[in-house]
Amino acid sequence: SYSKMDKEETKQRKFDVKEGGLLMKELRTSFNSGKTKSYEWRKSQIQSIATMVEEKENEIIEALYKDLSKPKTEAFVSEISMTKSSCKLALKHLKSWMMPVKAKTPWTTYPSSAEIVSEPLGVVLIISTWNYPFLLSLDPVIGAIAAGNAVVLKPSEIAPATSSLLAKLILEYLDKSTIRVVEGAVAETSALLEHKWDKIFYTGGARVGRIIMDAAAKHLTPVILELGGKCPALVDSNINLQVAARRIIAGKWVCNNGQACIAVDYIITTKQFAPMLIDALRNGVEEFFGKDPMESKDISRIVNLFHFNRLASLLDEDKVSGKIVYGGQRDENQLKIGPTILLDVPEDSLMMKEEIFGPLLPILTVERIEEGFDVIKSKSKPLAAYVFTDDEKMKKDFVQNVSAGGMLVNDTVLQLTVSSLPFGGVGDSGMGAYHGKFSFDAFSHKKGVLYRSFDGDANARYPPYTPQKQTLL
Ligand code: NAD
Repeated sequence: SYSKMDKEETKQRKFDVKEGGLLMKELRTSFNSGKTKSYEWRKSQIQSIATMVEEKENEIIEALYKDLSKPKTEAFVSEISMTKSSCKLALKHLKSWMMPVKAKTPWTTYPSSAEIVSEPLGVVLIISTWNYPFLLSLDPVIGAIAAGNAVVLKPSEIAPATSSLLAKLILEYLDKSTIRVVEGAVAETSALLEHKWDKIFYTGGARVGRIIMDAAAKHLTPVILELGGKCPALVDSNINLQVAARRIIAGKWVCNNGQACIAVDYIITTKQFAPMLIDALRNGVEEFFGKDPMESKDISRIVNLFHFNRLASLLDEDKVSGKIVYGGQRDENQLKIGPTILLDVPEDSLMMKEEIFGPLLPILTVERIEEGFDVIKSKSKPLAAYVFTDDEKMKKDFVQNVSAGGMLVNDTVLQLTVSSLPFGGVGDSGMGAYHGKFSFDAFSHKKGVLYRSFDGDANARYPPYTPQKQTLL
């Protein structure tokens, strides 16, 4: 069974605090040599990642299949091609990102000039997660390299095939004096966290996010936390229902079977509209995955037995069990749960309190769609919020009044693919952001530099502070 495979494959070699110290020393020596600062080094490493993805595409897709039975096309679109795009974008703009940016100066410093210099932070730690284990490991690594840092990547042990492939490929393709992978679980991550990093970039859940921030605080290490949350979709009735339903399905079951940080967690719509929406979702699911989605090859499985049982217990809670209006099939041996829709699940159920992170989609109903705002605001700030409406005022109100890491009007998940938008959370969904230039900035220190010449040395600045000088102030 998969659960047995998980155990065997997560057995890791010993990596303790001492070994972490040796690794840190080695990388710091390389960083201090200055090699990561050069444009050539950054370019060549990012180019090597692009080559690696190109040459090892099949192995990567195979590992993703092993870890999640991720469909080949989904793996290609959401992991392979997005990693390639990040490389391409970084290579295209690297020179201009590295350029100092001129800044204005006040008359009080006249004559002078000023600039903002982006300098690398040093040796950074990237701790990644299992749901998009390839993209979410390499995307921040690309940012860290672009910004000129040495990097340690710790992929998630919950996606063991991708973790070991990353370890193997990075050793083969990248400069090992500056870029390394440490595989492992809690013990290995804890050993890494004992050391002083120049930045920690963590993707995962909020519980571990707190552990990371706590460990970082001891060394005053800045953190970026890419967490999750319950991402709502508010669905008005004045919409193109068929298109909206397809897009909601794309943002739930086509997204790693709901195991995605920006997947739709729950829907809010009006009592009146809910039956039509449910029909449209059911039709769409059957159109995409057939009459029996459990047989479909186009949908991922649940990652492991722990998460399978977690999702099953959300469904089995007494107050929830009678609320299924579509789906509900599960198969523990294959770790599969079918697309499942629930109607009017109580707000105090576990399903409405915790991030679902799986194929269960509860629909909450309200009398008037505007009441949906209060439902969203009563919960922690999500990583993404979606609204489907044709009403301009509703769009504006949603953007102005709902707080979320990011939002998308009339679609789902595509905000992630727009590299000119920052990607990150707010409040409980995290802190800091990346993607495109924001990734470069996330791993840079913005150093303010003021240049003066020896001309124009004003006396008024210096004691003695005579009455005459004071009149100049
Ligand atoms: P996970 O269990 O894979 O944990 C993430 C990382 O934390 C792993 O590398 C793991 O080894 C490490 N870790 C686990 N326990 C630890 C401990 N006690 N001490 C130190 N390190 C530890 O991931 P997860 O938490 O199951 O991931 C799911 C969560 O991630 C969801 O909440 C999801 O929304 C969020 N997520 C966010 C994003 C984003 O970009 N914001 C992307 C994907 C997932």
